[in-house]
Amino acid sequence: MLELSNVRAGYDEIEVLHGVDMTVGEGEIVALIGSNGAGKTTTMRTICGILSATHGTITYRGEPIQEEPSHEIVERGIVQVPENRDLFTNMTVMDNLLLGAQTADAQAKRDETLEEMLELFPRLAERKSQRAGTMSGGEQQMLTLARALMGDPDLLILDEPSIGLAPQLVQEVFDVVEEVHSQGVTVLMVEQNVQQTLRLADRGYVMENGRITMSAPGDELLEDDGIVEAYLGV
Ligand code: ATP
Repeated sequence: MLELSNVRAGYDEIEVLHGVDMTVGEGEIVALIGSNGAGKTTTMRTICGILSATHGTITYRGEPIQEEPSHEIVERGIVQVPENRDLFTNMTVMDNLLLGAQTADAQAKRDETLEEMLELFPRLAERKSQRAGTMSGGEQQMLTLARALMGDPDLLILDEPSIGLAPQLVQEVFDVVEEVHSQGVTVLMVEQNVQQTLRLADRGYVMENGRITMSAPGDELLEDDGIVEAYLGV
């Protein structure tokens, strides 16, 4: 579904990704793990067209997308849940959700998806008239995820969706990811809860200093002593 081949990207003159190769198959959950500053967020941003690849190719369903602006990538069905929440804080929860239905396809299904989201996120349903900026940090994070899902993604890209959440909400995020995946959405995720993520993921990639250093099924990575030591805090 998605293939990165020798992708290089960075900020101004500083190259952060030094030739990244990665694939995500239709229907998979793929995890990208690695230490702070390894380039995970940069990889996500490059896929979504927020940053330009300076070298290499990114193909989605067989077509090159590395030159496309981010709104065209969204049109293709690739929706990112950003690490920073990026909500319209003065608008209500409901209006933020409705704004997530960006493409014509998502607009056509808007009411149906909205109903699903209010069921999937009961807290948002309770608070749909509240201004987004007055919601708690955890609630805003849930809203960010729900708004992305309003975009009716085929490929959902999650950057640290559970960062800073209380354990119960972390579980809720993982449950939502599992639920949308079971409905046919492909998932690429970066997550600090490495153990929980690798249990959920079909495959994982390990990134170090802007390069992929390892790739294996999630359960194999969980059994790898080096990975356990480096990323699972054991
Ligand atoms: P973390 O787990 O800490 O979020 P990460 O693997 O997602 O880390 P990135 O955020 O991709 O890492 O950052 C990779 C490198 O790029 C870091 O050295 C970082 O300082 C640098 N970087 C990130 N954003 C910018 C920016 N806007 N301008 C300049 N350098 C940046």
